[in-house]
Amino acid sequence: MKLHEIAVAAPVPGSLTYSFPAALQPGIRVLVPLGSRLIVGYVLAQLPDNEQLLVEIEIKAVADCLDAYPVFPAQLIPFFRWMAEYYHHPIGEVIRTALPAGLSGTSSGAAAKAKTETVVRLCAPLSDQPAAALKKSEQKTLELFYQHCGGSPVMPRRELTKLYSGAGKALKGLAESGLITLEGRHVYRDPFGELLPYSDRPAELTTEQTAAVSALTAAIDAGAFQTFLLHGVTGSGKTEVYLRAAEHCLAQKKNVLVLVPELALASQMEGQFYSRFGERLAVLHSGLSDGERFDQWQRILRGEAKVVVGARSAVFAPFPDLGLVIVDEEHEAAYKQDDGLRYNGRDMAVLRARFASCPVLLGSATPSVGSLYHAEQGKYRLLILPKRIGGQVMPNVELVDLRKEKRGRKDWFFSDRLLAALKENLAANLQSLLFVNRRGYAAFMLCRDCGAVARCRNCRVSLTLHRGRNQLICHYCGYTLRPDIICPDCGSGDVVGLGLGSERVEAEVRRLFPEARVARLDSDATADRRAQISLLRQVREQEIDILVGTQMVAKGLHFPKVTLVGVVWADSGLSLPDYKAAERTFQLLAQVTGRAGRGELAGKVIIQTHQPGHYVLTAARAHDCRAVYEQEIALRSMLGYPPFGRLINLRFSGENESQVEAAAKTAAALLRAVILQNSLPADILGPAPAPLSLIKNRFRWQLLLKGTRPEILHWLCDQLLREKGKICGKKVRLTVDVDPENMM
Ligand code: ADP
Ligand code: ZN
Ligand code: ZN
Repeated sequence: MKLHEIAVAAPVPGSLTYSFPAALQPGIRVLVPLGSRLIVGYVLAQLPDNEQLLVEIEIKAVADCLDAYPVFPAQLIPFFRWMAEYYHHPIGEVIRTALPAGLSGTSSGAAAKAKTETVVRLCAPLSDQPAAALKKSEQKTLELFYQHCGGSPVMPRRELTKLYSGAGKALKGLAESGLITLEGRHVYRDPFGELLPYSDRPAELTTEQTAAVSALTAAIDAGAFQTFLLHGVTGSGKTEVYLRAAEHCLAQKKNVLVLVPELALASQMEGQFYSRFGERLAVLHSGLSDGERFDQWQRILRGEAKVVVGARSAVFAPFPDLGLVIVDEEHEAAYKQDDGLRYNGRDMAVLRARFASCPVLLGSATPSVGSLYHAEQGKYRLLILPKRIGGQVMPNVELVDLRKEKRGRKDWFFSDRLLAALKENLAANLQSLLFVNRRGYAAFMLCRDCGAVARCRNCRVSLTLHRGRNQLICHYCGYTLRPDIICPDCGSGDVVGLGLGSERVEAEVRRLFPEARVARLDSDATADRRAQISLLRQVREQEIDILVGTQMVAKGLHFPKVTLVGVVWADSGLSLPDYKAAERTFQLLAQVTGRAGRGELAGKVIIQTHQPGHYVLTAARAHDCRAVYEQEIALRSMLGYPPFGRLINLRFSGENESQVEAAAKTAAALLRAVILQNSLPADILGPAPAPLSLIKNRFRWQLLLKGTRPEILHWLCDQLLREKGKICGKKVRLTVDVDPENMM
């Protein structure tokens, strides 16, 4: 009997030992008995033979072996172990999170196959194609290819047959004469169902791009861990730097991992990488079906795919050896997973590079305060792309002081300045974008007799009025009420909607500009993806004059005829109880600002605020990342917040508030005693009710561990978790959030 170390996909700490008649390879899935049931486990290692142990502590046997080959490479195991320890999460659950759905359970996952289609590939460069001896239909088909291929040597057959019904037959002839080949390939579409764009490879890099690329290629060749921070304004050619570094890596027969913060951006990056690397690319993101994810995973495992582009979970891509890791938009909070295994994809990407001994490139137009600090300290190497490609200037940003606008005016959220600019843009047939931070019509419902605010029955948060749906909605649990409520406190019927949402801004824009073509893009208006695409297409084709939207419009959209961007109210994020509030607000403003003037016409941005003197706003006006950085560094070093200190948030939740409170207080007392006893350099903040103190009928309290020595914070956490049963009982849940991004 051989002994094996096995991680089971269940919330048990650590790994377990099971026996099997033969040696099992690490990365193979097995079925093992746990308690009274059979459960999936992952082989981590073969243990030395120990007959005595087998006899002494009755070791259970593996019930079944599920795979002939490993489903992840053994090289990933130290990475999994590290994550389990760092995030205080069972290793089996870490692995289950890492694997695509089709593999994490017992199914073989082969049920769903990836879609394929036939593509036409030119056998010689475009200009070398002989024109002679071709049939008319073949000539015509080739011409259509040239016109529609966008410079790429590959094009889906379907597109040609759509353009010309004779193409199908002609292509067969062309293939027979060896001018083209017809091949099957996986169908890559973006999550909105559109075919991905092809992009050209620029002939020459700018001086700054060249410097960045050569630093990266040298690091790839050196094959050592090193972190680079690529700071480049939007449109400065960062993506081209990624592509060139990836090309170099592939030429050295090494693999490349590219992370993007979210789906919409994943598909754009996917398009660019696909046009450069074709079938060597695999994608991993939530827009794929389980079957598609499984398929992509297998292609990586089999070594067919050399480059992976994906969202957060792509950090687990099963490459046995990596040559380069790229993290785009490294400052994004979306890299943090906020349930289950609460990991940060960006941080784990850096860690993977360290385990793989390869360079990692973090790119952003607005790098995080932490990354800039590491660059300053020499821990990261800074690469800078200071200018937009093609010499476009950054848009001019104006701040409008809302305190000076007339009070009591119904449409106070349109300053005279913004109204005039919208009017001017309309008259010039140019497009405008209005950014609003919140969806819905009114942010909250206020009783004008007693001042009470209508709150959700299950959560302690205000209900948002949605006029279109004629409902009051809780944005946390989905609870709804009819809007004609009476005050829950005093019974008055005089309850009105206050505060701003995208729906209200849209309504006002329609009222103020009845002649304008207005549309709204947020997750209410366009939950349906197809509606979303068609709306974006309308904007692109200039069938919309004014687009009102939430965060959804801030990222990645490229509309050359949008010359005016209005930020209706910049302040909403600034006062959140979160040490990153200022940094995040600046990043969002910079991103929205980047939407203006992406074409030949210069852009203009109008930001409305009640705090025009706040450093975040003056920095947004000056496109000055540095100013925010300096303010934040001064503040955080004083308060011991990251990057100077580390945080672990311990959250207690349950249906009974006094039980939750008691557990949080007991935990705090225990930790304080341990700290005192051992004179440890660590602070405990709280316990206190979380800013969102009741969500979905669960009360929430939290306790923040803060200190400069992470190993001490983790040790404290372990001490606490050891007593978890005693402290929390069965009714209170304790979640450990290491390096929290969201402290609400
Ligand atoms: P970023 O990722 O920094 O926002 P992109 O990489 O998307 O910028 O580049 C912006 C535009 O400039 C793209 O259309 C890209 O194709 C083009 N571009 C990038 N590098 C060059 C170059 N060296 N020469 C010409 N065009 C380039
Ligand atoms: Zn009232
Ligand atoms: Zn609710």
